This record gives sequence, structure tokens and C-alpha cells, in this order.
Amino acid sequence: MLHKSRKKDLYARARKTMLESHLLPRGIRQKEVIDAMLSVPRHLFVEEGFRQQVYGDSPLPIGGGQTISQPFIVAYMTEQLALTGSEKILEIGTGSGYQAAILSHLATRIFSVERVSELAAKTRKLLDSLHYTNVVIKIGDGTQGWPEHGPYDAIIVTAASPHIPDALIDQLAEGGRLIIPVGPQHSQELIKITKQRGRVTQENLGGCRFVKLIGKNGWHA
Ligand code: SAH
Repeated sequence: MLHKSRKKDLYARARKTMLESHLLPRGIRQKEVIDAMLSVPRHLFVEEGFRQQVYGDSPLPIGGGQTISQPFIVAYMTEQLALTGSEKILEIGTGSGYQAAILSHLATRIFSVERVSELAAKTRKLLDSLHYTNVVIKIGDGTQGWPEHGPYDAIIVTAASPHIPDALIDQLAEGGRLIIPVGPQHSQELIKITKQRGRVTQENLGGCRFVKLIGKNGWHA
């Protein structure tokens, strides 16, 4: 059995390797994003059997047929939100809570919606144990957003939708950014929406693959 602090060092080193092998070569540059990726203990967000490979370049199962994205995608989506630290963020698809933990380093408040109640409960416990106190989780259908706390400076959707739910655009603040994977079940485009002077512009950030966003304005269960 390895001593606990020694294990901690090993994981810290694995995160450094992750940064050097997968994030820097693919263009991740924002210092705050890099610092967050180096500090969040990603290995605690997956099932124990997957800890050895958690800092590699692949998505991993988090239970219930859901997945945590590969580190690059998490870093890339976060960087695209162009956060300065003062933002209020809405995340749709809490999952393991890893993306929320990264965001919690980069913004003031994170509101995150998860449709699977068991997953939300497990993630709440984990985030509490790691003192991520600025993340609030709600169980519900994220295709409706979370109107009570809006508008949001940034919205990130971590499940794929056949189209962009209107509620999310409505809940975006002036100057706000929305990132969402859009397209058919097996391959999507990562779309970035920016709202300026009430008008919305759209940019395609490239191909990606996410699990389904299931809800009233997403896929049917
Ligand atoms: N961001 C997560 C990964 C999410 S996987 C992480 O860092 O681990 C996608 C998640 O979206 C799953 O947990 C799934 O249950 C959830 N989901 C799917 N449809 C949803 C909906 N309509 N509202 C909220 N969550 C949804």
C-alpha cells in the first residue's frame, strides 16, 4: 500500500504530464484554466477501477451509461467561456461534478442541473468533501435551464442536443457565452453562441461526441 501523501504526489505528477502531453500541445493557454486542471483531483471523479487511466486522453465512464469528457475537451470548453472570475455560470449535465469543480476555480457561482437524482446526490457529497462550496446542484431537466438564477454570464452544456434549447439562449446575459454540442446521436459539432446587444452570433468550434441530453427540449428518453 502506498502512503496517502505519496499517492497524492503521484496524481499531481500525472496531472502535470496530462498538461504537457494533452493540453499545451493542443493550444490550451489560459493560465487560470491550466491552474484549475492542475489542481482538481480528477481521479476522485471516476469509479475506482479507472483511476490509473484518468489523466490520459480519453473520456471515462462515471456510472449509469454516462461519461466524463477527456481532459482536453473540459479545458477547451472552459477556455472558450473566457471567464474572468466574476461570472455566474449555468452548467447542464452535472455528471461526476468534474467540469463543475474546474469552473468553481474560475467563476463566482456555478448552478448545475442534473437529471439523474442518484448521480446528483453522489456528486453533491463528493463536491462537499472537497469544499467546492460555490457549486449549487439541482435535479431536473436542464433543457429548461434554471430561470430562477438567470441570466447567466456563461452557460455550458455537457450533453448533446439535437438543437439549441431556446430557454438557454433566453437565460444568457448580455455579453454572455453558451457552449453546447449539437447534432445527431453519434457525432456533434461544438457550438458557441454569443449574445451581444440582444443579438445572437454562432460559431462552430469543431466536431465532438457527447452522451444524449434527454429532456423536453432535447432527446426523448
Ligand atoms: N459534466 C459532467 C459530464 C456529464 S455527462 C462531468 O464533468 O462529469 C452528461 C450528463 O448530463 C449526465 O450525467 C446526464 O445524466 C446529464 N443529462 C442528460 N440530460 C440532461 C438534462 N436534460 N438535464 C440535466 N442533465 C442531463
